[in-house]
Amino acid sequence: MTPGPLNVAQALHEARALGVDRLDALMLLADTLACSRTWLLAHDDATLSTEQTTLLRACFGRRASGEPLAYLLGEKEFHGLMLHVDSNVLVPRPDTEVLVDWALELLAGLEHPSVIDLGTGSGAIALAVKHAHPAAAVVATDVSAAALEVARANAGWLALHVEFVEGSWWQAAAHRRFSLVLSNPPYIAGGDQHLAALSHEPTLALTPGGDGLDALRCIVAGAAVHLEPGGWLLLEHGFDQADAVQALLRAQGFVSVQTRRDLAGQPRCSGAHLP
Ligand code: SAM
Ligand code: GLN
Repeated sequence: MTPGPLNVAQALHEARALGVDRLDALMLLADTLACSRTWLLAHDDATLSTEQTTLLRACFGRRASGEPLAYLLGEKEFHGLMLHVDSNVLVPRPDTEVLVDWALELLAGLEHPSVIDLGTGSGAIALAVKHAHPAAAVVATDVSAAALEVARANAGWLALHVEFVEGSWWQAAAHRRFSLVLSNPPYIAGGDQHLAALSHEPTLALTPGGDGLDALRCIVAGAAVHLEPGGWLLLEHGFDQADAVQALLRAQGFVSVQTRRDLAGQPRCSGAHLP
């Protein structure tokens, strides 16, 4: 480790030695120095202050231990919106944009649709839908008060009007009906090895335990009484859960049951509508 304050080149060298991806290191440097990545590339002899050096080393250490870059930067882009994120919410994934795009296709044909996003986390789905389709009345729920605080703050700074309700799945929507129900619930099985690599994100956001399907079962089971006639339910799920989710939907009387693939080509979202 270089003693004293680092310059840009030395900082990038330390990051590499820790196993931090070069692009991540550049993003953290740009954030610390409040400059652009382009500026950094042209100024690799620029010296950081002692304070900046200490801060950056702490960030490199946290990134090297697997903390998501989005938590270190405090933000993540989703469907063209910049969202604040912290460790109370799942980092929104690009795969979830498939669900939003599907929702927007369905909303295009409706005049004054009402939409609910169950388990909103950072607010990603609800806010992306409201932003792209302002005529929709959007409700967003979560059982986590801390997550809702993040989502509310995002709605505030993006100036998007979304109604937030705290509660477990359908309890947050008692006696209400919607044209469209959306959810990316926790769906990783309790014993799944992937959870180890996601240990910095809230367990509540990732897994309902058991076979991973409990939250999806609960949402599908309660959907019919919360949907208007002909209303659609769209769900994100694990790459190997499409058959199970399709079966749940058919068992509840849904029709036009279909699945869409994510950017990696995996079956990722299933949806259907009531007759
Ligand atoms: N919608 C966000 C997204 O796509 O980035 C977050 C999805 S995250 C996979 C699942 C969310 O469901 C978490 O925010 C978690 O707090 C919430 N959740 C977990 N159990 C819940 C429950 N019983 N009722 C409502 N929300 C729940
Ligand atoms: N898609 C996330 C992941 O595996 C999991 C999110 C979820 O359980 N809904 O990284």
